[in-house]
Parts: sequence; structure tokens; C-alpha cells
Amino acid sequence: MKNVYDIIVVGGGHAGVEAALAAARLGKHTALITIEKRAIARMSCNPSIGGLAKGHLVCEIDVLGGEMGKAIDATGIQFKLLNKSKGRAVWAPRAQADKREYEKYMQRVIDDCSGLDVIESDVRALDIRDGQFYGVYLHNGKCVSAHACILTNGTFLQGKIHIGNIQIPAGRYGELPSIGLSEQLKDLGFAVGRLKTGTPSRIAKRSIDFSKLEIQEGDSNPGPFSRATTNFHPKNVPCWLTYTTEETHEILRSALDRSPLYTGKIAGVGPRYCPSIEDKIVRFSEKPSHQLFLEPEWEGSSQWYVNGFSSSLPIDIQIRALRSVPGLEHAEFIKIGYAIEYDYFPSHQITRSLETKKVSGLYFAGQINGTSGYEEAAAQGLMAAVNAVRKFDNRSPVILERHEAYIGVLIDDLCSKETSEPYRMFTSLAEYRLLLRWDNAHLRLLDTAKEIGLQSQSLLELFEQIRNETHVLMKAFKKTKILSDNPLEISVEKTTSLSLLILQQKLDESHVLDLQKFYFSDYLLDAIDQAYVLTRYEGYIDRQFKQVKKMHQLEAKRIPQDFNYNAITSLSNEGREKLLKFRPETIGQASRTRGISPADIQVLIIFLTK
Ligand SMILES: Cc1cc2nc3c(=O)[nH]c(=O)nc-3n(C[C@H](O)[C@H](O)[C@H](O)COP(=O)(O)OP(=O)(O)OC[C@H]3O[C@@H](n4cnc5c(N)ncnc54)[C@H](O)[C@@H]3O)c2cc1C
Repeated sequence: MKNVYDIIVVGGGHAGVEAALAAARLGKHTALITIEKRAIARMSCNPSIGGLAKGHLVCEIDVLGGEMGKAIDATGIQFKLLNKSKGRAVWAPRAQADKREYEKYMQRVIDDCSGLDVIESDVRALDIRDGQFYGVYLHNGKCVSAHACILTNGTFLQGKIHIGNIQIPAGRYGELPSIGLSEQLKDLGFAVGRLKTGTPSRIAKRSIDFSKLEIQEGDSNPGPFSRATTNFHPKNVPCWLTYTTEETHEILRSALDRSPLYTGKIAGVGPRYCPSIEDKIVRFSEKPSHQLFLEPEWEGSSQWYVNGFSSSLPIDIQIRALRSVPGLEHAEFIKIGYAIEYDYFPSHQITRSLETKKVSGLYFAGQINGTSGYEEAAAQGLMAAVNAVRKFDNRSPVILERHEAYIGVLIDDLCSKETSEPYRMFTSLAEYRLLLRWDNAHLRLLDTAKEIGLQSQSLLELFEQIRNETHVLMKAFKKTKILSDNPLEISVEKTTSLSLLILQQKLDESHVLDLQKFYFSDYLLDAIDQAYVLTRYEGYIDRQFKQVKKMHQLEAKRIPQDFNYNAITSLSNEGREKLLKFRPETIGQASRTRGISPADIQVLIIFLTK
């Protein structure tokens, strides 16, 4: 261990892992300081990666040179492409993880990464002077210096677990919380908030009666998350589905007066989209039952995760309630469900590079910014490191726009919206969903990946080839005539262009392979698929590009960070308050900030033009 590094990453969770790897791979001497080395890349809650919008994030992380996609491809035990019956914009890959193997994989990659030291310690304080970061103080009083620091403390800051009336200081089950850091930052003038999240119990496999459950298998021939993964033949370990009953709800309802959520013991706000089971039966009281998915935590695991049954009710109630569920009558509990409350920093305090506005060289990434989820954390960790490195090298930050990536939507939302509950990525948060497909992350992010410099040259060349071939194929589809006796075996009355047949939906995804076989054998399958999607949705995609162009004029109008909003008397009071709080970087960002009216935007444009 040295005393001086280029970059320090505090925390070895999903944000910290991506941040540390990216900083070191970009050539900076990096220290990853984390409380417990064995817990690096630990999945605190659900044993899965990806899903709606989250799967998109993983693909984007992968194209930009992150590790998450490769890690889950190597260690996943069930893969599925969700929403295949719907439009392309919302297809999303998801995988069931082997938690243990996932941790091991990431720890191995970190051990093998040159320029990266892991220091097992608890960072107790930061060395900050005159608004500049200088170093961190470890639990033993030692100081480690660096030019920049990325804080990724997750749910550990002043973390407190709740189970009924019991409260335990903890960062996660069985792990100590981080005490001191959030108080120090509060003293420096940072706003600190309190959020909460929860996790369900883990039960013994031998106590589950599988004969009463519905099997849930993955796809038989799935694709990987990572463009670097070849020879992909993953396992397909099933999960199982059951349902809560009226009796379950009655047991839960009878104990609401012992729930820390309803007795006011939990002050932090939880995610509305991912409620605890006691919250579900109150908010959706008309529903007679709720789905529960039983998922193995690793391959051959004796410990199963009860997805959908997150709870902070007392132990006796959790046990009784779960045992009223078909198939779980004899459930043996390995770990009981709990809620956790923790400190976070409302994200109006960071810029889109993820650097804090108050302290130069200090970056926040992951749960500390009020987000929730492994993928959201990993995406921020990667971008924070890229931008910390670029600042070190005197280069401008990489800012992804909303039409370029879900990562762009995520960070833009953090910098322009109030977080009243943990922020999770959803496809509905992206206004340009059709542009931000899971399948085209490598094409839309190719230029950014080149700029960042973490992706392999061979893959960048492949992406370039796919992009070029896609353009050629788009034109070729218009020229290619399909005759009535065609090898695609589709009924065509008179000779028609291929693109028209796609638009008329006479051809669908299932024909892409045949298109390659019979018409375009010199082209990559990926390029044919891209050309197919672009043709199929051409009108909608054109419309979205027009909207992007319109917004671009507003995005290009930059607002100086020290702009004196108090000098503009014609702004509304609420508008001025929000502008002072968020200090948006562009007019576009200002226009998305709640509380800033179109009239405020017009006033701003006039003053900026002056
Ligand atoms: C009980 C529970 C339930 C959850 N439920 C869900 C859910 O249902 N859905 C969902 O999407 N997400 C859930 N999450 C959140 C999910 O785990 C996080 O979003 C994700 O792990 C955040 O990643 P991160 O890297 O920001 O932090 P974490 O994964 O929490 O990692 C933080 C890391 O920082 C280290 N650390 C903290 N303080 C210090 C310090 N002072 N010095 C050194 N190291 C430090 C810790 O040891 C840890 O390695 C849950 C989390 C918990 C704990």
C-alpha cells in the first residue's frame, strides 16, 4: 500500500468496482478502499442482473468498456429476453445470477488489474481544504492522498437495519455501517437525506414443496449481455412462482401496528415501485394475492430468495405469513427479511460529470446519490471514474445526452429532478426509447466508447463495420425486390421491395436469419438485424430524431455555473429557487427541471443572449 495515488475509490460495491477498474485501466494509479475485501461486488439483495431498462444499462456499460456484462455472462445461471411480445424499444435482457461466482469473478478481475491496489479499511474522514479534495483518513488514522476521490458508500452511511422493534446499526446484514463521513460532509454544507430499502427472507431449499409451485425457466437459446462474450452456452436453472393468500394478508394486516414502517420508526423514504409486502397489502388492498418468485442464490444453493416478500415486520409475523403461502408451509428461515435506512446526498449537489459542486476532485456514484440498483450504481461508477481521469488529464468530461443512452437519462435526471424516493431506471423515464434500444447500444455509443478509450480495438472495429453495413443494407432493402415465389416462403401478390414488406409487417424478426442466408450472405447478421429494425420503425425513429434536433438547440445553450439568477427579477420565485438549487448546465436541462416554467426559460434565454 502506498500513501499517494492518482484516484481513490471508496467502497467495493457495484459502483466502486466499475469506478476502480475504469480508473486503473485508463492508466491512473488507483486505490480501492473498502471495508471488507471478501464483500467486493456483493449483491445486497436480489440475485439478478438486468431487466427492464436495467438490462439496457448493462449493455451500455459493456460497450463503454465496463465489466458488469462480462461478469454476469460468465456467472449467470438463467438468461431471458423480457418483453419479446412487445416492440423492440422495451425488449430487455435479464439474468439470474450465481451471487458467489459473480463476486469471485469481480474479485479476480480486480486482483489481476494492474495499477489497482485494494486497501481493506474503513474510510472515516476526508481531507478537504478550501473546497478541494486532498485525501482520506482510514480507521487507523493513516492518511492516503490522491488527486480525486469517488465515494460509493452504498447503503452504509449511518446505516440502520429495522426488524419489527429491533434496530441494528449496519451497512448490510452482518456488516458494520460507515459512521462519520456523512456528518463531516454535512458540516461542510452538504445537504443529507435519509432513504430506506428492504430485502426479503432467505429460506432453505429442502423446506420448499416444489410440487405446489409453477416453474419459471429461462430462454433455451439466449444471447449474452456483453459484446465481448463468445461461445455462450449458459445454464438454465429454473425459478419458481407461488402466490400470497388471503390468510397471508390477514396475518400481515394484524401486525401493522408492529411494523417500523407504520409506527414511524423508519424516517427514510422507500421506493414506491418496490414496496415491502406489508406496504403492498395496504396500498393494493383490493388484490387478493401477490406473486412471489423463489430464486436460488447460486447454483445448487440451499439458500433461496423469496422475491416479492421484502419486509421489516417482526420475525414471528414474517414466519407465520410466509408459511401461509402454498408450497412454503414448512419454510425454514436462513435469514429474516429487514429494512435498512441510510444517509444519501440529494443529487442536485453533483454536476453531470458526477463531481460534487462544493468540493473539487470529489465525486459521488451509486446509492449515495439516491439511486437504487446494481446497474444504476455500476453505470455511475464507470462515468465518475472516466470523468475523474479526464479532469486529471485536463480534458473535458464525457457527458452522455438523453437521446444517446439510458446512462444519459439517469445522470440528467439526477441533476435536474428532486429525489423523494430511491431512483430506479425505468424505460418510461426515457423520452427517446426507440433510439435507446438494448440491441443498438454498440452503435449509438461507438463514438463515445472510442473517446473514452476503455473498449478493445478489435470490438471497436467490429462495431464500426456493423454500423457501415447497416447503412448499406438500409438502401439495399429498398432496392431488393421480393418475387411471388421467394425463398422466405411469404405470400407476395406482386413483386414488392423488401423494405415495404418489412413496413407492412409481412416480415418479422424470425426472417432475419433467412435474409442473410438467401439475400445478404456477405453481411453480418447483426447489421441485417439493425437494418431490419431501422426499416420497421423508420417513421417513428425519424420523428424521435426530429425531436432530438429540436431539443439540441436548447442543450447547446450553456448557462455559466456562477450565473446570477438573483439579478433577474422577472423570474418566478419558484423558478429562481430551483435554478439556484440545481444550477442546470444548459437551457435544455433547465427546461426539464420541475418548478421552472416555460416563461422562466424564455426569460433565461433572453438574458443569456444579452
Ligand atoms: C437490504 C437491502 C435491500 C436492497 N434492495 C434492493 C432492491 O430491492 N432493488 C434494488 O435495485 N436495489 C436494492 N438494494 C440496493 C442495492 O444493493 C444497491 O443499489 C447497490 O448495491 C448499490 O451499489 P453501490 O455500489 O452504490 O453500493 P453497495 O453495493 O452498497 O456497496 C457499498 C460498498 O462501500 C463499502 N463502504 C461503505 N462505507 C465505506 C467506508 N467508509 N470505507 C470503506 N468502504 C466503505 C461497503 O463495504 C461496500 O463494499 C438493496 C440494498 C440493501 C442493503
